Amino acid sequence: MPTLSATEIAFLMVACQQAVLALGWAIGAAVVPIDRRSAVQWACYALLTGASVVIFIGASQTKSEELRAVANVCVATGILLMERGVRQFIGRPANGWVYALLMAGVVLLSWLGLTPRYGALRVAAVSGLLAVLCALTAWNIYVYARRDLGLSLGQWLALPLLLGALVFANRGAQAVVSPYTVAAEMAGNSSLDIGSAAVFLVTALVFHLALVALVGVRMTAELRRLSRLDGLTEVFNRRAIEEQLHDEARRVGRSPRPFSVLMIDADYFKDINDRFGHAAGDDALRHLAKIMKAQMRDVDRIGRFGGEEFVVLLPGTASTEALSAAERLRDALLRRPWAWQGESMSLTVSIGVAAWRGPQDEVNALLKRADAALYRAKALGRDRFELGS
Ligand code: GH3
Ligand code: MG
Ligand code: MG
Repeated sequence: MPTLSATEIAFLMVACQQAVLALGWAIGAAVVPIDRRSAVQWACYALLTGASVVIFIGASQTKSEELRAVANVCVATGILLMERGVRQFIGRPANGWVYALLMAGVVLLSWLGLTPRYGALRVAAVSGLLAVLCALTAWNIYVYARRDLGLSLGQWLALPLLLGALVFANRGAQAVVSPYTVAAEMAGNSSLDIGSAAVFLVTALVFHLALVALVGVRMTAELRRLSRLDGLTEVFNRRAIEEQLHDEARRVGRSPRPFSVLMIDADYFKDINDRFGHAAGDDALRHLAKIMKAQMRDVDRIGRFGGEEFVVLLPGTASTEALSAAERLRDALLRRPWAWQGESMSLTVSIGVAAWRGPQDEVNALLKRADAALYRAKALGRDRFELGS
């Protein structure tokens, strides 16, 4: 049994920490609805980091340059897997060949680095690569958090990886600026000191925390998105569309910018349920929502207000254009009939249109006007639209 120094024990603790993290990711992949491939790659990343530490200790005990090179390959493979896992998680995977080539480069450099005079070159090149990988991951996480998740504090998620990139870049730069010091350090095995154990421990842990935070942030965003959607039609639910109406009213404030709403109710919908059953009614509602989504602009917001009733918010739209939008929707429903079990029929809707009247107006009053107009459209025979006054 070899005797271990305090530093080596400190490094062994890092290995234990990584083993626990690997187990955490493996369990996460099995029980939490996260991207399984990414979680498995992050588990492998932790395992390889832990393995590299154990191998480094072996290298220091046996003064073996070969073992040290193997440990370096483990670290580099781990970081490559970490980067790949993040890319897959955010939906921007890179070609597998790129990783194969990079791995081949790392192995070649490690092998070359066994010759003492290339030792510093190996440290510079491998550290440089790891710095670039960490910086790339930081950038990918930042862009994903800002653009895809709409998180204004995306930089905090990316910060640990950016700091990691700086640590690697600093190591690479040292090897370029003073290759003899780095080569001597390697020969003397002095990289295994308490200070580097502490840096290693914190960096490795913080990387994983950043990954856990990334998963958590995405799960929260997904839950929030789902809590705002209507399960059947996948348009906004009543609470979300009401919120957006209030937001829009606040946004236009005292400016003369117009906006309008359409209140849409399917005609004789009870008959559809009675004739074809509830499942058919559900399908008809999905059909209605699909046509609305196809007809409306990207800036428009569609919500299911209840039963077979929908509200559409049309930002930047005055009453005349809102009436045209209502006509377009009516027309589209005629052109795209609903098909159910071999039968096909056009669904019709009645629409109440109301326009925002400016700062003295209120969202509830706007909805009341739209509802009154809808009631009139029903009374006047359905399959038509009326403007609320
Ligand atoms: P009108 O032209 O006056 O609007 O007649 P209508 O039959 O559409 O109106 P009514 O209010 O009498 O009936 C609405 C029907 O919509 C009754 C209800 O069962 C049905 N409905 C509401 N929500 C759903 C749903 O989620 N799925 C199904 N299948 N039917 C629904
Ligand atoms: Mg109806
Ligand atoms: Mg109704």
